[in-house]
Parts: sequence; structure tokens; C-alpha cells
Amino acid sequence: MAAPKVAVVGAGVIGLSTALCIAETCPSCSVTVLSDQFSPNTTSDVAAGMLIPHTYPGTPIHVQKQWFKETFTYLFAISNSAEASEAGIHLVSGWQVFKNTPKEELPFWSDVVLGFRSMSEAELQKFPQHQFGQAFTTLKCDCPPYLLWLEKRLKATGIQISTRKVADLWELHSEYNIVVNCAGIGAQQLVGDEKLFPVRGQVLKVHAPWVKNFIRDGDGLTYIYPGIHRVTLGGTREKENWSLSPDPGTTKDIFDRCCSLEPSLRGAQDIKVKVGLRPSRQSVRLEREVLSQGGVKLPVVHNYGHGAGGFSVHRGTAKEAARLVGECVAALQGSSSRARL
Ligand code: FAD
Repeated sequence: MAAPKVAVVGAGVIGLSTALCIAETCPSCSVTVLSDQFSPNTTSDVAAGMLIPHTYPGTPIHVQKQWFKETFTYLFAISNSAEASEAGIHLVSGWQVFKNTPKEELPFWSDVVLGFRSMSEAELQKFPQHQFGQAFTTLKCDCPPYLLWLEKRLKATGIQISTRKVADLWELHSEYNIVVNCAGIGAQQLVGDEKLFPVRGQVLKVHAPWVKNFIRDGDGLTYIYPGIHRVTLGGTREKENWSLSPDPGTTKDIFDRCCSLEPSLRGAQDIKVKVGLRPSRQSVRLEREVLSQGGVKLPVVHNYGHGAGGFSVHRGTAKEAARLVGECVAALQGSSSRARL
């Protein structure tokens, strides 16, 4: 059969990284990214981009750990290369602090990040309202730069990129041999997935270049994540809220919560407010499906539903999606050689 034509729907961190992995693992494939929005207008652009995993209750921990480890290893190599600044990837050290000692003192990802340890009493004096804390070094993606870097890599690999809203995956069957669904929250409408729901997140991006360490409240709601140019202050987790309009009361609340963790933020300037809808599910949907109408078949690979942790696991899930695309290619090649016999 001729070079299999693969369409990847979606240009957030999941679609772009999946397209790149497919091009790397299946060089004979002709890959096109189709999306109605690109950076800076995706959920991925709003994210803080910190590599601190979110837990998916419906996915075995060893699988989540593998995805995280692959992503960490991939980004660590970029952070240690001449590409680091353009790709927006850097190491950042800091603290996760708890008002009460958590049941699980060692999270599953503690041996993937660098230098994980409990905080000393002296360090905890910085956080008088907290009793317990963990110090570690992890990676952070500055989101628009990382998405632009991925797009540049895709173009250099010969991948086509095209603006298109896909109403139904089946509409692609006459143009492509395989479709990969990386539509994020858009998958709810695209494939009618009722298990997928938005978790609204509002964050502030501020100028406060003196803040060098990350600080995260263990409840995951309040966080301060310094990037290369701006510091992200968060946040909110509002289930089933589809509003993309910033709420001024929430902005004040986030700012006050962050200032109580890091009082020097009172001097922050140029406060910009961003809102995104986390594509949430009990587990990431990462599987093959075959659509079929009137005897015609269209293999599909789904890779969406990364919720609050898409950046933390994107490379791991992209690699798995590319492996599933490889299985689809092998099945297509098997059926075309059987048809020739
Ligand atoms: P998106 O970025 O939404 O991309 C989906 C793409 O599909 C878009 O390009 C869209 O235009 C396209 N699309 C949708 N429907 C269609 C259609 N019908 N036809 C064509 N194209 C379509 N994660 C972390 O790991 N660390 C963090 O620190 C972090 N912080 C966050 C902070 C906030 C406030 C928010 C909101 C999220 C955060 N996340 C974080 C989560 C992370 O942003 C998401 O998990 C991730 O961005 C999901 O990526 P995605 O590519 O699946 O979705």
C-alpha cells in the first residue's frame, strides 16, 4: 500500500506531540494536523505546564508513572540542550506544603522528579500555616513557546498543518487511512463522549521576576509557578463549568491566596487573567477503535481526556498513541496484501 495518510485532529500539547511521535516512529506515514484552533488559542496555552502529575483514578498507577517518566526524561534532555530557551523548558525547584500531614507521604512520582525529600523545620518556617512539606526539583514548560517549538519541529519533519473544524471523524474517511483524535474537551461533541467533562481553571500570569521557587499548596488549589518570563498564580477547579470569561472576584481570591503563601507577590505587576477548560475523565482515553459504514472501515486512535495533567504525561501518552497507529498501519498493510492474493 502507498504511504498511509494519518490525520491528527487537535493542535494542543497532545495533538502536536502525538503527531511528532507518529512521524518519528512511522516515517513512511504522511501526517496532517487538522485543528480549528492553534496556539495561542488552546487550553494548552493557558496551562502552567508544571510537571507534577495529576492522578487519574481509572488508570493503573504503574501506567501513569511510565507516562510521567517518559515525559520527564524527554523534557529533561531538552532542558539540557541549546534548544531549552526557545522550547520554553526549564528546571524549577520549590516546595509542596500541607496544612496537615498527607496520608501518602511519598507520591508515586517522587523518584522521577529530582531530589525529592521532606522539608526541614527551618524551611517550614517560611509557611507558618503549614505543618508538612516536600521539596523537589521538577520541569516546567512555558506553554505558548513549547507549542510553537513543537509546531516548528512538525513543519521541519514535513508534517502538514491545516485549519479545519471536524464535525464528525467519519468525514475524514475518504481523505485519510487513519484518524487520531486529540480534540481535548472538543471530543465531547466530536465523538459524543459523556464521560468527558470540563473542569474550569482560572489563573493569573504576572510579572514578578524575583520569585524563583515554585510553591504549591498540597490541596492543589493554590499555586505559584515561576516561568521564564511570567509567574503563573492559581487557581480554580470548577467541575462542569463551561465559562471562558474571567471572573473578577475569583481573580482577587487567587491573588490573595497566593500572597498569603508568598507575601512579596503584593508587588507583582502586569496581571493578566486566563481561563481554560481541563478535558477531564476518570482515565485518559487512549485506545483503538474501528469506525465502519456500508462495509468501509476507518481505524481511529483516541488520545484525549488528560484533565489537569496533560503536560505532565503528554510525551508518554503520545508514544503510546503512536504505537497504536503503528498497529493500525500493520493491520491495513495486512488487509491490502490479503486483497492482492
Ligand atoms: P487542548 O489544548 O484543548 O487542544 C485541543 C485541540 O483540539 C485544540 O487545538 C482545539 O482547537 C482542537 N479541536 C477540538 N475540537 C475540534 C474539532 N471538532 N475539530 C478540529 N479541532 C478541534 N497540566 C499539567 O500537566 N501541568 C500544569 O501545570 C497544568 N496547569 C493547568 C492550568 C490550567 C488553568 C488549566 C486549564 C490546565 C492545566 N493543565 C496542566 C492541564 C493541561 O492544560 C491539559 O491537560 C492539556 O492542555 C490538554 O491538552 P489537549 O491537547 O488535550 O487539549
